[in-house]
Amino acid sequence: MKEKNMNYDVIIVGSGFAGSTLARKFAEDNKKVLIYEKRNQISGNMYEETLDSGIRVHKYGPHIFHTNDKEVFEFLKQYGEWYFYEHKVLGKINNVLVPIPFNFKSLELLFPKEEADEIKNKLLKKYPDIQKVSILDLIHDSDKTIREFGEFVYKNVFENYTAKQWNIPISEIDKSVINRVPVILGYDDRYFQDKYQFMPKYGYTKIFEELLNHKNIDICLKTNALTEISINDNKIYWKDKEYKGIVIYTGEIDELFNYKYGALPYRSLDLVFENYNMNYFQSSSVVNYPNEEKFTRITEFKYFSNQLIENKTTILKEYPKKYDYKDDSSIPYYAIINDENLEKYNKYYELVKKVPNLYMCGRLAEYKYYNMDAVIARALELYKKVGNKNEKSK
Ligand code: FAD
Ligand code: UDP
Repeated sequence: MKEKNMNYDVIIVGSGFAGSTLARKFAEDNKKVLIYEKRNQISGNMYEETLDSGIRVHKYGPHIFHTNDKEVFEFLKQYGEWYFYEHKVLGKINNVLVPIPFNFKSLELLFPKEEADEIKNKLLKKYPDIQKVSILDLIHDSDKTIREFGEFVYKNVFENYTAKQWNIPISEIDKSVINRVPVILGYDDRYFQDKYQFMPKYGYTKIFEELLNHKNIDICLKTNALTEISINDNKIYWKDKEYKGIVIYTGEIDELFNYKYGALPYRSLDLVFENYNMNYFQSSSVVNYPNEEKFTRITEFKYFSNQLIENKTTILKEYPKKYDYKDDSSIPYYAIINDENLEKYNKYYELVKKVPNLYMCGRLAEYKYYNMDAVIARALELYKKVGNKNEKSK
């Protein structure tokens, strides 16, 4: 699709959940919206592709929806059918497949019974009223048995996985990253403990098609917005004329300002898909490989899509690697959160603040390790602030 008119109230850069949620909200408020998307398809990193075998795969890595935010789920439910799906992950530790997050079952599978019982009892006594605990608390516990158990989990589940994923020692990783994966004090074997856990029945791409299917939304695919939009003297220019409407930017903030303060670092991934003539390759949708292997995890998509396709399956291996902003084929997957990078981000954000009609939203524009529900929540919140009033409160 191309621009249909020149009177857009809102220009949105990027069609992931950040851009698409905002596009829909503005469109429903009768605003004319133009989306620029540099890829040849909508949906950002949620894009799902159907292979010749009929199997749907997540082209940019495995994505499972989970949230405690009712408003977010209610919003999404309007754009397609979702089915109840609780994500379960196994991890290969000492050649045994055990539940991840590490739970009492994992403990029983890896420790002799008496030792496992002692650890479980001590944990339950120490943490009588909670269901999960941070690995960082366990390794600093005053009790020797708990501390040694924590060190075992830290070493076998977290240390090498984290080094592979981030290419820096685990000690340098922001705690919030490690704390995404707790240790479970019981037998709950779900990867997430959120109240709402669902997958889209016909895939994420269908949800996006519906989300963006509105008469007030036009989409330009295969167009880097920065060929049409520029910022000069704290003003936005669109097609070389000053643009006074709202611009929502969901791409990389450093690219928007031509890397003026240097590039913000990200981790990237080599995603290697493999097809097999068999019903299932592994016994769980995701198996983590924290230690020996070069990849971090293997995802088998049929578990997500619930598709009854016989004798065929597709898996994905994720090999972490460096992101190179100069290479167009390199994809920035994970912001690397540390003081130095946040300081650089804040310098860029100071430039944003000076442009009254420019707003940042999403994992790239805000340089955050966001889950999709947090991105949608942020988009809905931003819309409440700017949607009706068109006033500056970023
Ligand atoms: P994106 O989806 O990246 O969308 C940004 C869009 O902007 C892209 O389409 C891009 O092409 C476009 N764009 C950028 N710059 C320009 C430009 N200059 N011009 C035009 N277009 C531009 N979250 C979960 O909740 N559950 C999960 O299981 C989960 N798994 C994940 C697994 C991996 C491997 C990764 C990396 C992330 C995962 N996430 C998960 C997080 C989730 O992917 C993000 O929160 C969400 O996709 C972010 O949406 P967004 O709109 O901010 O960004
Ligand atoms: N992690 C780990 N071992 C695992 C799973 C996760 O060490 O088996 C750590 C690792 O540092 C990872 C972080 O926890 O980057 C967050 O994991 P999550 O599964 O949430 O990552 P994502 O799905 O976002 O890639």
